[in-house]
Amino acid sequence: MKNISFWERNWLTDYDYVVIGGGIVGSFTALKIASENKNARVALIERGILPLGASTKNAGFACFGSISEIEKNRKEMSDDNLLSLLELRIRGLEKLRNDLGDKNISYSNCNGYELFFDNNGLEKRIYEINELLNPLMDKNCFSLCNKDIKRFDFAKEIVVGLAINKHEGSINPGKMIFSLKQKLGSLGVDCYFSTEVESFEETSSKIFLKLKSRNQSIDIKTNKLAICTNAFAKNWFEMEDISPGRGIILLTNEIPDLKIDGCFHYNQGYYYFRNIKRRLLIGGGREIDIHNESTLSFGSNKIIRQKLIEHIKTFILPDINFKIESEWSGIMGFGINKLPLIKRVSENIVLGVRLGGMGISIGSIVGEKTADLIIN
Ligand SMILES: Cc1cc2nc3c(=O)[nH]c(=O)nc-3n(C[C@H](O)[C@H](O)[C@H](O)COP(=O)(O)OP(=O)(O)OC[C@H]3O[C@@H](n4cnc5c(N)ncnc54)[C@H](O)[C@@H]3O)c2cc1C
Repeated sequence: MKNISFWERNWLTDYDYVVIGGGIVGSFTALKIASENKNARVALIERGILPLGASTKNAGFACFGSISEIEKNRKEMSDDNLLSLLELRIRGLEKLRNDLGDKNISYSNCNGYELFFDNNGLEKRIYEINELLNPLMDKNCFSLCNKDIKRFDFAKEIVVGLAINKHEGSINPGKMIFSLKQKLGSLGVDCYFSTEVESFEETSSKIFLKLKSRNQSIDIKTNKLAICTNAFAKNWFEMEDISPGRGIILLTNEIPDLKIDGCFHYNQGYYYFRNIKRRLLIGGGREIDIHNESTLSFGSNKIIRQKLIEHIKTFILPDINFKIESEWSGIMGFGINKLPLIKRVSENIVLGVRLGGMGISIGSIVGEKTADLIIN
């Protein structure tokens, strides 16, 4: 340990609990630990100045799955497992809203919609998904709303069907993390930003972590460790079923006569768009270049970018001039198993990762479960 004073060694580097990752999961994990252990010394360590994963890079959909996405999932897992996943998303969103408050996350009950390019059997498909969701939701969670195709000004020769989910909404993910940080501060959690955990080593008495921040490198120790680094956990746990997936987002200029209002999905949830006041945010399209998008590196993808712009021009805003004013990417964590990975890796180390594409909806509960596992 370089240039560490007596005071620092005895007062600033010894913790009861350390949480790695300042995204939604790490923040909810630290929150639960600190609120249940008032006298414990808790630290949360994040390598970015701002979280550098997905929690502040996402689209802000407070959603639990569109019709074609749930149909796709139904082919990949049993109905029981699928219902468990959907329930996790629904309860997770409730918890997020209850714990932080709608105002503090700018929750808007704006409805979710799915665009269809083929009307065949649509009513039957909607009926079947409503039946599947019966144990969790009211009878008509999804319904057809083709009349709104005109209201939103979609190209009506391409968009021939529209379904609405009245239980979907949107949030502001920046405000969500801001509000979590405030709560962590009020509970006395030490939040270290711009600090990367380079490695950790468990001994019989303590877990030692090597931290790096700019030119400074220090070691700290803790009794218990929660790793909430989502896709980046693969760096330490190669054998686990975790694969990275990059998501790209484009945001237009302000469009004075924008008619889009709400959260929209299409093509099995692979594409999505929403309005942010008068701007259009669009993202997705990973599936057309899945090999290059299975990466832990932030960046853009020309083919996907072009495809998203083509979709805006051809059927989302067919008669409107726009320009892309900003764009960014985030990194998600997927697995063959669609459920999150919450597991004990040793007596005092737990993992809360693999949030998939809807981590905002499940993040609060994954954090809570990760904390429960480490506390008990
Ligand atoms: C483009 C995009 C759009 C999305 N849209 C939505 C949406 O609309 N709705 C929805 O529900 N979900 C959406 N998601 C998914 C959702 O954002 C994620 O599932 C969720 O944010 C994952 O949260 P997390 O806390 O597990 O991971 P992260 O947010 O990735 O947090 C992990 C943190 O760990 C930190 N870290 C990693 N390694 C280290 C280290 N060694 N030392 C210190 N810190 C480290 C990272 O910097 C990162 O901040 C989207 C994702 C993307 C990328």
